[in-house]
Formats: sequence, C-alpha cells, structure tokens
Amino acid sequence: MSSVAEMIERLRAGGVRDERVLAAMAAVPREEFVLPADREDAYADRALPIADNQTISQPLMVAIIVEALELRAGDVALDIGTGSGYQAAVMAACGARVISVERISELADQAAERLGRLGVDVEVVGADGSVGLPDRAPFDAIAVGAAAPRLPVALARQLREGGRLVVPIRSGPEGEELTRLRMRGGSWITENLGPCRFVPLIGAGGYPG
Ligand code: SAH
Repeated sequence: MSSVAEMIERLRAGGVRDERVLAAMAAVPREEFVLPADREDAYADRALPIADNQTISQPLMVAIIVEALELRAGDVALDIGTGSGYQAAVMAACGARVISVERISELADQAAERLGRLGVDVEVVGADGSVGLPDRAPFDAIAVGAAAPRLPVALARQLREGGRLVVPIRSGPEGEELTRLRMRGGSWITENLGPCRFVPLIGAGGYPG
C-alpha cells in the first residue's frame, strides 16, 4: 500500500520539478483508473493492467511526459492512447483543454464514462490517433502514450508554432526513447528524454495491427 504523498515524494526523487504537474498528480484519484483488484497499489510506481491487454503507465512516466509538455492554462492538447484516461485527466488538471484519442472503442467508452463521472472535462474520441486529428489541429501540445516505430511526421505537422510533441520512438528491438519535438520558427527541434517502454502505437502512422 502506497499513499499519494509517497507517490509525490517518489516523483520528486525521480526528477519531476514542475509544481503544477506534482499538484495535478496529487489531485487526480489514480485508484479510480485501475482495476478494482489493484486499487491498493494505485499509488505504487508501476504500470498496471487495464482492459484489452493495455496498461496504465507508471506514475513517474506520466509525470515526466506531462512535465515535458510544458502545459499552460488554456493550451489545446491532444492525448493519443486514452487507455484508462488517467494521463488525460492529469493534463486537464494542469489547465489544458484536452482531446484524447483511443483506437479501442471499448476503452474509449469506459474512459469517457469514468472521466464524466469524476467531473473531468476531457473529450474522448474513438479513432486511430497515429495520424493525429487533422480537423482539430493545430495543437499546443501532443502526448503519445504508445510507442511509435519512427517519428510520427503527421503529428509533428499538427503542432502550433512553439508547440511540443512528446512521443516514445523505437530505438532498438527492446525499447523506446522518449522524444520531445518542438516546433520553432517553422522547424522541428528534437531532444531525447531517456529510455522507456510502451505498448505499440497501432495504426496508419504506427505499427500494423
Ligand atoms: N495514457 C494511458 C495509457 C496508455 S496505454 C493511461 O493513462 O491510462 C496505450 C493506449 O494507446 C492503449 O489504450 C492503446 O489501445 C492505445 N493506442 C494504441 N495505438 C493507438 C492509436 N493509433 N490511436 C489511439 N490509441 C492507440
């Protein structure tokens, strides 16, 4: 059993510095996003299973991604791979207007119901997010919660000037590199944020299904 306060301490120890992100992580009830059997472990620093063989990422990874997005109040943010809806809820708690895309309709429906019940204002769209949401672009921030085989160019093109894309990109047979891309003066600047492990991004701009 691990408490919210212990989770926040582990996030600080893991290098998360942005107080707004830490406050958002403290505010979102993670136990509501995990399976009933895992509620006791909701604040442990590990990924947990959700439906359809997918996972809710470990709290430290969510915090690192959301911190890297540099969200400001009112930013329009796209979250790709809704899963449980947890990361979308953390992004919303940072003040962003969040649209979250999930390819598995059962997960999209469950997440929309859960977020609605918790009073979290996130729009969930059931679709292939690997190509982004061109009709709703441009975005201030785009987070991808699944591993892309290569830089997803379609997503980078949907960033506003100054916008940030955070995405795990395959770096070898056994893992991914968390990558941040910034759109600056019409060009893209990429940075490596460290190794990570995610389920695959499946779709037209990802891996074949
Ligand atoms: N961020 C989520 C966990 C993401 S797990 C959370 O907080 O719970 C990755 C999710 O990405 C899975 O639900 C998977 O179905 C979804 N996914 C994979 N490829 C996708 C695609 N092309 N478009 C949208 N969602 C996708």
